[in-house]
Amino acid sequence: PETAETTRDWLAERARTSSEATALVEAADGTRWSYAELDAAVEETAGRLADLGVRAGDHLGVLMETRVAFVRLVHAAMRLGAVLVPLNARLTGPELVRQAETADLNLLVCERETEADAVAVADSAASTAGLPVASVDSLDADGVAALREREPTDFDPAAWSRADPQAMLFTSGTTGDPKAVELSMSNFLSSAVASAFRLGVTPDDNWLLCLSMYHMGGLSVVLRSALYGTTVVLQEGFDAGNAADATAEFGVTGVSLVPTMLRRMLDARDSLSNSLRFVLLGGAPASEELISRCEARGVPVHPTYGMTETASQIATARPREAFAHRGTVGRPLLWTDVTVVGEGDEGDERDEESRDDEADGEGGNEIPLPAGETGELVVSGPTVMRGYYGDPAATNETFGEYGLHTGDVGYRDEAGRVWVLNRREDRIVTGGENVHPGEVVEALREHPAVRDAAVVGLADDEWGERVSALVVTEDDATLSVEALDAHCRERLAGYKCPRTVAFADELPRTTSGTVEREAVRERLREARDS
Ligand code: ATP
Ligand code: MG
Repeated sequence: PETAETTRDWLAERARTSSEATALVEAADGTRWSYAELDAAVEETAGRLADLGVRAGDHLGVLMETRVAFVRLVHAAMRLGAVLVPLNARLTGPELVRQAETADLNLLVCERETEADAVAVADSAASTAGLPVASVDSLDADGVAALREREPTDFDPAAWSRADPQAMLFTSGTTGDPKAVELSMSNFLSSAVASAFRLGVTPDDNWLLCLSMYHMGGLSVVLRSALYGTTVVLQEGFDAGNAADATAEFGVTGVSLVPTMLRRMLDARDSLSNSLRFVLLGGAPASEELISRCEARGVPVHPTYGMTETASQIATARPREAFAHRGTVGRPLLWTDVTVVGEGDEGDERDEESRDDEADGEGGNEIPLPAGETGELVVSGPTVMRGYYGDPAATNETFGEYGLHTGDVGYRDEAGRVWVLNRREDRIVTGGENVHPGEVVEALREHPAVRDAAVVGLADDEWGERVSALVVTEDDATLSVEALDAHCRERLAGYKCPRTVAFADELPRTTSGTVEREAVRERLREARDS
């Protein structure tokens, strides 16, 4: 029986309590899987994995894109007590080798499209040589009907302790090499429960799954839906028009998206189905313009701040809050705390030495800051990872007195709402003072003629770095550098005010919608030198 410390296989539990409810719908052709049917298929997959030698505690690598076979592997891993290690199917050979070595895989499961890569990984490095590779296209080659008929292979389902590692996911690698984040069953459970308190759950919920399952956003949908007993509508690949249409066709009530995906869906179809209860929008900052479009189109957007290390959501704003306070990610989820800690900037009196200590992330001198003050966001609570797998040094460096150092800079307002400004590594050091670009961007945007802005540091002989801004003005607006400087001086300490300003029609952005800081620097260098 279930105790406070143990937990049963989530899918098996649902097959018992909601066997006829719909677990999965394939968007491409409408194929429907009840919980009982998915459970039988998972039993089959788990049996075959057991035949291949997979045991409780083993590291099960998966190299494939989102499809039903991947969903089966997620649940089969839980049934066997294996740690799921999804690898990004878009990585190059050398990147995959590094991750496979880091993760100490016992088996790597691939699909037809990734088989060559998987075999190359297994053959290449010393520590992965001899790694067994299996393909779902041979495992499951007989198709759905045959799977339902076949007798399951015998194996003992795992007994989980909540503290056991359940999955290992790699971070996106924005600030360096991707790190292997080890998450326990308890991390995922806490995240699912706290998220349900913020968003609500009904048995009729349908989640559209279009994010990759090798990132937290996609994997969470599959795990949570099984726990909640709700339906996943699975879309292979992402096509903005199809995804927007699927929201109406399948009466979708919830979806997780990154800003670029939502923007493309609105570009393609202008609006989404009014069956939607929530659109979780995270992974990168959402522009005010995108939030405005959601308000105009009645899209129930929930701007969300999350990371791999926290099993997804840290804070989530409800639509009303998002529209009234554009740019916030709302309050932290239940049980999660966000502390803003000082990094020795803000013009305080502390000496250079303590400032350097904090810049190295060595802790000891962390000071929690009051509402309105900007610093590093530090997270604690039951969703926070056990650590980076096999890297105690990196784990130690990341945890401080108040919890996990996110590397993100922001503040909390008087109401406790979280605002994420920028990554810590984007910070500018000018004349020994730290300047957070996000704070300067906010001040610039308060000028009525400014539509958007990006702030970076340019190398400077005298100051080390020089605060510099690329500014996009509203159509038809005229704005002089002098007027903008006067505006900034009313709002920011002198050392934070941009010394170099240039104007552009648009900010250079990546396909995921984040500002390309190097391209901004390039444009500003040209402006400065001309
Ligand atoms: P790495 O840790 O390897 O550098 P990464 O931090 O990009 O990569 P993820 O865990 O996928 O890896 O992303 C989490 C990060 O995404 C957060 O730390 C934050 O910087 C950013 N992020 C997530 N949601 C938001 C948001 N709503 N607004 C701004 N930034 C966000
Ligand atoms: Mg990160």
